Amino acid sequence: MSKQTLSFQAEVAQLLHLVTHSLYSNPEIFARELISNASDACDKLRFEALHRPELYEDAPSLEVRVSFDTGAKTITITDNGIGMSEQEAIDHLGTIAKSGTKDFVGKLTGDQKQDAQLIGQFGVGFYSGFIVADKITVESRRAGAAASEGVRWVSGGTGDFEVEAIERAARGTSVTLHLRSDAEEYLNAWKLKSIISKYSDHISLPILMEKEEWKDGELITPGDENGGRQPGGMVKTGEWEPVNKASALWTRAKKDVTEEQYQAFYKAISHDHENPLTWAHNRVEGNTEYTQLLYIPAKAPFDLWNRDKKTGVKLYVKRVFIMDDAEALLPGYLRFVKGVIDSADLPLNVSRELLQESRDVKAIREGSTKRVLSMLEDLAKHDKHDAPAAAAEGADAVTDVVDADDKAKEGKYSQFYAAFGAVLKEGLGEDFGNRERLAKLLRFASTSSDSASVSFADYKARMKEGQDAIYYITADTLAAAKNSPQLEVFKKKGIEVLLMTDRVDEWALNYLQEFDDTPLQSVAKGAVDLGKLQDETEKKAAEEAAEAFKPLLERLKEVLKDKAQDVRITTRLVDSPACLVVQDDGMSTQLARMLKQAGQPAPESKPVLEVNPEHPLVKKLESSAHFDDLAHIVFDQALLAEGGLPDDPAAYVRRVNALLV
Ligand code: ADP
Ligand code: MG
Repeated sequence: MSKQTLSFQAEVAQLLHLVTHSLYSNPEIFARELISNASDACDKLRFEALHRPELYEDAPSLEVRVSFDTGAKTITITDNGIGMSEQEAIDHLGTIAKSGTKDFVGKLTGDQKQDAQLIGQFGVGFYSGFIVADKITVESRRAGAAASEGVRWVSGGTGDFEVEAIERAARGTSVTLHLRSDAEEYLNAWKLKSIISKYSDHISLPILMEKEEWKDGELITPGDENGGRQPGGMVKTGEWEPVNKASALWTRAKKDVTEEQYQAFYKAISHDHENPLTWAHNRVEGNTEYTQLLYIPAKAPFDLWNRDKKTGVKLYVKRVFIMDDAEALLPGYLRFVKGVIDSADLPLNVSRELLQESRDVKAIREGSTKRVLSMLEDLAKHDKHDAPAAAAEGADAVTDVVDADDKAKEGKYSQFYAAFGAVLKEGLGEDFGNRERLAKLLRFASTSSDSASVSFADYKARMKEGQDAIYYITADTLAAAKNSPQLEVFKKKGIEVLLMTDRVDEWALNYLQEFDDTPLQSVAKGAVDLGKLQDETEKKAAEEAAEAFKPLLERLKEVLKDKAQDVRITTRLVDSPACLVVQDDGMSTQLARMLKQAGQPAPESKPVLEVNPEHPLVKKLESSAHFDDLAHIVFDQALLAEGGLPDDPAAYVRRVNALLV
């Protein structure tokens, strides 16, 4: 077939535009991305060759070569990995296959600054070559295919690319970057070596560069080897030498890995441009042997809530890469964790299905979950957000005894929690075995703290004398929660209430009935029973009111029989005339509303209307000539106050207007 010109998929064109216009502040990432592709290609070959050793052809040792040509102003990265057929080159380099990536591109705003930020959290992969190149030539041949089935792919990184069939003896891929004039600094062995080793030291296959030597050089300035030699300059010797350590980072001893190397490795596997919050690197021995290197990122990825978002853990078996996103290795609620698990026990040909059933995988999953929870507990322990004021006075003395490591962890838990707290809560329903540990890691806003920083333990420590439950309220927003009428009596009595505004809260709390032997009680469920927190006169007044209001309640029940399951007197209100509550075992009106919005079936349960006998409107109700209208208004307003909408808003408006007139 002759040469054909094809257009990039629209999303790719958009991505390319962005890459070239907003990523030049960090041009070096091209090396990371292209070397990581070369390394992936070698991993894929190694994996396929488990069944088809003939794929190795006559070159069984996998490697990557990086070379440059100062005359032509090109850099070439060559691997002898799996390679691509012509169709694969068209598909893989011209379209975006992954749905997450497509969604991501869809989210871009067109605002360069903002998009550049977004894109930094996301691997632009192959296209990052266009940060430094105005033309890229890819030549490739798939392992096992004939030499005549090679492909050449060329593009200037704008609207289209060309492909043509070529003859290519060597299997694998070479990517040639034709550098832009402002990127010529990379045509330098020192510079290239330093960025390659920065981004690829952890890669387990050798990355080779051609050795250079001084030609006819004279040392003009003694002691200054790099700058001092003159004419002739450096010439290539034809000998290739490795520029990276070529030992997988996680297989090295902890003491041989620097903090910077751990961070660089994280960035390489996660495509995150920020450092992780923390990590744990361990070799686990015993019945199941494996190495784990697990990272907690600092920021949520753009696709955290994507339904089919996988965990970010790569599985290796005895250093051979097996698969990305091995979801069997960590529970879904820890899907934000990135890292590597290298098992010594699993068979090399393990499949996803097999992973689900393996006893070893179960042990790895349990061990890794525990490890992540301990990392989080450690961060939480060092988070100083809630240091009591008294400690601040002696701050100097305290700082002296905190070692540097501890200091570095300060504030990190709040950062973690802001990004991933809502995901962590899913664990209450997903991981019964670790429920108590998880509950300790949860943080909430409360009537005494706007930020999500109150733990159940903090709350318990502040409970009032005689208080026997942890009170909470769920709502769509913090403002709705804080201003909810249901909180009135709690505010009056100075009882703290946790404010829960994450979508998962209500669902997650179904799985947590108590914390440390203290029951959790929604202030919007069941009759309010403040127990010992109420004094005798209050109790007596409530009983008398209930008696006195009996006839009124009967009338209200009759008028509102289609809307309310029951109508009763309450002591939970101070300033509001009425509020809605659900029966103890019922689903909150907020959750029911959410389910309906999401198009899911929600049980049609009617709420209970509670009225405040002290409120003038309620007192007036009895003798009103507009009893029915007022009754409906009181009900609908209670619904409005908690962020709901009357079933028939027009009728509500009509009734209010009639009274206003
Ligand atoms: P990713 O690596 O995240 O899949 P990239 O944009 O880096 O995304 O690469 C896109 C695809 O192009 C890869 O998934 C792979 O199929 C193909 N590809 C890129 N570089 C190579 C290479 N050196 N050898 C074989 N295939 C490659
Ligand atoms: Mg890639």
